[in-house]
Amino acid sequence: MLKNNGVPSREELTEVKPSRERLQQGPVVIVECIQEIPCDPCYYACPRGAFYPFSDINSKPEIDYDKCNGCSICIANCPGLAVFVVDFTYSEEEGLLQIPYELTPLPEKGEEVVTLNRSGEEIGTGRVVKVLNTKKQDRTAIVSVAVPKEILMEARHIKLRREGQ
Ligand code: SF4
Ligand code: SF4
Repeated sequence: MLKNNGVPSREELTEVKPSRERLQQGPVVIVECIQEIPCDPCYYACPRGAFYPFSDINSKPEIDYDKCNGCSICIANCPGLAVFVVDFTYSEEEGLLQIPYELTPLPEKGEEVVTLNRSGEEIGTGRVVKVLNTKKQDRTAIVSVAVPKEILMEARHIKLRREGQ
């Protein structure tokens, strides 16, 4: 449970997961913002109006998944690093995971990386497909990683395999 150990429980994650049907339709946002906190930049970041208006600043985000096209703009706008995009249609075997990344050095396109779950445990490997790091993103890069579909809903961070890291 998030408030006990910083890791959301299965029940908490179920509440913020798009339907199975929507997940199979293409890239979609996953907003793992579980607690009520005074924060709302995600709402203003989305150009498609996929975040419902917040009833007050402490409200948890609610999403109209049919409006989301997985553009990933909102990822770098979340100070809590709680926003991801997943795409189960990326290829036959692999899904695409897009994550916020604020560590240095940044991974590079084509690099093989270790994938970590929400507890920081290693759960497999992935391949970096793209690294987006524009000025507008204010040092929160968006890293796209191809991972086996079996771990697409579990992998939420990556670790570089370079020597000394
Ligand atoms: S991924 Fe793009 S369309 Fe989807 S909620 Fe985020 S900003 Fe909106
Ligand atoms: S910007 Fe991030 S932390 Fe803030 S309300 Fe939205 S999802 Fe939650």
